[in-house]
Amino acid sequence: MTVGVVGGGLTGLAAHHYLREMGVESHLFEADSEPGGVVQSRRVEGRVLDLGPQRTRLTPTLAELVESLGLGDELREAADVPLYVYHHGKLRRVPQTPREAVATDLISWPAKLRVLLEPLTGPPRDDETVEEFLTRTFGSEVARNYFGPLYGGLYGSHPDEMPMGYSLSRALDSAGIEGSVLLSVAKKALSGRDPPPIASFDAGLQRLPEALAEAHAGSVRLGAPVRGVRRAGTGEGGDEGDRPRFVLETPDDEVAVRDLVVTTPADVTADLFRDLAPDSAAALDDLRYNPQVLVHLRSDADLTGAGYQVQYDESFRTLGTTWNASLLDRDGVYTCYLGGARNPELVEWGDDRLESVAAREFEAITGESARALSVHRLERGMPAYDRSWTALDRVSMPEGVHLCTNYAARAGIPGRIREAKAVAGRLAETA
Ligand SMILES: Cc1cc2nc3c(=O)[nH]c(=O)nc-3n(C[C@H](O)[C@H](O)[C@H](O)COP(=O)(O)OP(=O)(O)OC[C@H]3O[C@@H](n4cnc5c(N)ncnc54)[C@H](O)[C@@H]3O)c2cc1C
Repeated sequence: MTVGVVGGGLTGLAAHHYLREMGVESHLFEADSEPGGVVQSRRVEGRVLDLGPQRTRLTPTLAELVESLGLGDELREAADVPLYVYHHGKLRRVPQTPREAVATDLISWPAKLRVLLEPLTGPPRDDETVEEFLTRTFGSEVARNYFGPLYGGLYGSHPDEMPMGYSLSRALDSAGIEGSVLLSVAKKALSGRDPPPIASFDAGLQRLPEALAEAHAGSVRLGAPVRGVRRAGTGEGGDEGDRPRFVLETPDDEVAVRDLVVTTPADVTADLFRDLAPDSAAALDDLRYNPQVLVHLRSDADLTGAGYQVQYDESFRTLGTTWNASLLDRDGVYTCYLGGARNPELVEWGDDRLESVAAREFEAITGESARALSVHRLERGMPAYDRSWTALDRVSMPEGVHLCTNYAARAGIPGRIREAKAVAGRLAETA
């Protein structure tokens, strides 16, 4: 059996790696000349900058992958440092333990007491928004000042635009949280188990997809966009059980495969399957991504922490800032995320304007001056997980096509690796 993997971001490369580890013949096609997809790292003025994700949780599966690729020595693990939310003129520490929850000034005393009612409020309903669910269960202040910026902020979406059934409910399910969130979190805290450490690599996160591509150099084709997918004819050879079902068309050749692992963004996937699955293609066209701009700043601020999210009633264009300097010991580097669902037009702005907004807002929030090092635009940033996600119900790919994407499942890197491994395992079983 031969598998074709479309897309050489982290998901595609991990799926390809696990397939080959499990003895399945696999060929990967990546449109870009370098591997990684949204995971890209650059050096500017001698400093490492990440142009997409800034860090990952080093889950056991990911740690095993890193070791198997011989990247252990290049790993940079961060201590669990505080995270902040900017609200009402101040950076306020996000509570991560029950003791911090009591002490925090992010939430008033009446709001803290209101949280205790959460176990009595009933499970999530698929037809409510994340904002409605959080307000109903934790009260409006905790919803707006704590969960809202931390959850919606991750995607650049506002929680009042995110249906539970297509966003947070799925995240709660995959975190094994049934019933009360508060009691699950308390149980976890009492178990004494720490979350996996935050990590990156000396040369930035792109080191991981690069190492995966190097490890399978013979079967990873870079600069090879898949232009079309068609059904294979009976003339493509093979026995009934392993006869190729699809032909992948690239600018240089055509490759017949039995199964397809598709990891490309929704609009690309739609274009590739316009003929084979027209209804699914039309549905995939509807999924929205949040445009985002990353402005990397250089500052002597010497702030200690992971960074901050901006509470969304504030009049800033910055969604949040990662303090790479403190988190990963990156010499004076701070990464500002701007744009998202509320300010999508920012990706159209010129560099000068974006640089000055990012530096000005950084100074207003932290009191420290900064200068811009780089501007990077993502027309297609994070999947929005907003109301457009109801379109997913209309997606049903042909037999043998496996969607393994961050818009159909979890977006975080650990989730991508986990899903890639699971898809490879299922395919290996049928091989
Ligand atoms: C701004 C941002 C910040 C993030 N921050 C974090 C974070 O801090 N921590 C975390 O865990 N996760 C984070 N994420 C999420 C995580 O990085 C992504 O979900 C994950 O990297 C997506 O990988 P992927 O391989 O599924 O998709 P992609 O990276 O989108 O890869 C898809 C690949 O398909 C290729 N392709 C496109 N068209 C074709 C074609 N026709 N033929 C062949 N190939 C094609 C593309 O070039 C690309 O390489 C962030 C994401 C974004 C956008």
